[in-house]
Amino acid sequence: MKTINLLGSTGSIGVQTLDVAREHGYKIEALTAYSNVDIIENQIREFRPQYAALVDEKAAADLKVRVSDLPVKVLSGMEGVCFCASEGKGEITLNAVVGMAGLKPTLDAIGAGKTIALANKETLVAGGKLVTNAAKKNGVSILPVDSEHSAIFQCLLGAPSNKALKRIILTASGGPFFGKTKEELEKVTLSDALKHPSWSMGQKITIDSATMFNKGLELIEAVWLFDVSADMIDIVVHRESIVHSLIEYDDNSVIAQLGHPDMRLPIQFAITYPERYPSPEKQLDLWEIGKLSFYKPDYETFPCMDICRAAIRKGGLYPAAVNCANEEANLLFRQGKISFLDIPRLIAEAAEELNDKQDYSLEDVYNTDSFMREIVRKLAKI
Ligand code: NDP
Ligand code: MG
Repeated sequence: MKTINLLGSTGSIGVQTLDVAREHGYKIEALTAYSNVDIIENQIREFRPQYAALVDEKAAADLKVRVSDLPVKVLSGMEGVCFCASEGKGEITLNAVVGMAGLKPTLDAIGAGKTIALANKETLVAGGKLVTNAAKKNGVSILPVDSEHSAIFQCLLGAPSNKALKRIILTASGGPFFGKTKEELEKVTLSDALKHPSWSMGQKITIDSATMFNKGLELIEAVWLFDVSADMIDIVVHRESIVHSLIEYDDNSVIAQLGHPDMRLPIQFAITYPERYPSPEKQLDLWEIGKLSFYKPDYETFPCMDICRAAIRKGGLYPAAVNCANEEANLLFRQGKISFLDIPRLIAEAAEELNDKQDYSLEDVYNTDSFMREIVRKLAKI
């Protein structure tokens, strides 16, 4: 039985990972979150980890008192999260933190030789070169949890060679605003944007799905995970979220992975790989589904996909810059401080201010993060 260090345990992916662990009896070595004391306390009581960490110091102090009847060691701050990611007996670190805050714990876990199960796509987008180089150096595998990338990973299993791969086709649900015009998007509210048609997820990724920035992030994530160029990746809108992505070989043979939209399957496969276990996911009934539909994305109304494609083509710190600008713009939209259409505008304008470095360090990524956040706020006049 594998042992897991779970980062971001109180979120959407974190809770579903614990469903999978409960189902198959996996041992949880460490749990981390930002500040959600109530949920993590219950998780500690059920899964009895050796370590737990909360980034927020006050919340960590509260948690320490609450679980003082248990042998768990409670840590605090980002150092506490990094400790949970890399120390202790967990052989897999599943990173379900939201945002590029997950980058340092991922690098520490790789340094400690842990297998990485990665939901936290912002980590690969902001520090793709750092993460993939460290993984190569330490002989560590990065297994995708994101459903599209899990699909591609599964399609590639048994591939004759990566050289025969011609194209990756990422599917996108299209989000709540599929088919809307720019004029219609001027008036949309936060509650409209949070109504995702097929997935129930954390707020940040739900807004990223509404702007389609999520698909841009996934394009960059695929470049790093599968060592392909951005030009080899196409995006197709598929409203039913049944086909999770496809690959095409040189002979035009196309392979797809299908299943109901249920994150427990890709989470489970990242943990059980190379084995497959029975899953709680509903069996696919194609007669019941009947029809599957596919559309070209509307790149003009949803420019975030092209913003991300341009960023990875330029390379260097550009992907980090657009990711960090988006993290700030996404937050300002959720706080009601900017409109929905301000998000792509602010990201594109902020990226123009970047002083790029093609050969960057972790410190450069952090500097880009604070610089981009500041520029976005300045452009938004906040
Ligand atoms: P949630 O917002 O639901 O959960 C985020 C988790 O990270 C929580 O445990 C939260 O703790 C913790 N956290 C928040 N900020 C920080 C921080 N600065 N440092 C450390 N921990 C932090 O997000 P999701 O579960 O929806 O998404 C997690 C990641 O997985 C994202 O990168 C997302 O893009 C990706 N993903 C999610 C999918 C989904 O279906 N939800 C699908 C595919 C990918 P607290 O609760 O205390 O705030
Ligand atoms: Mg996805």
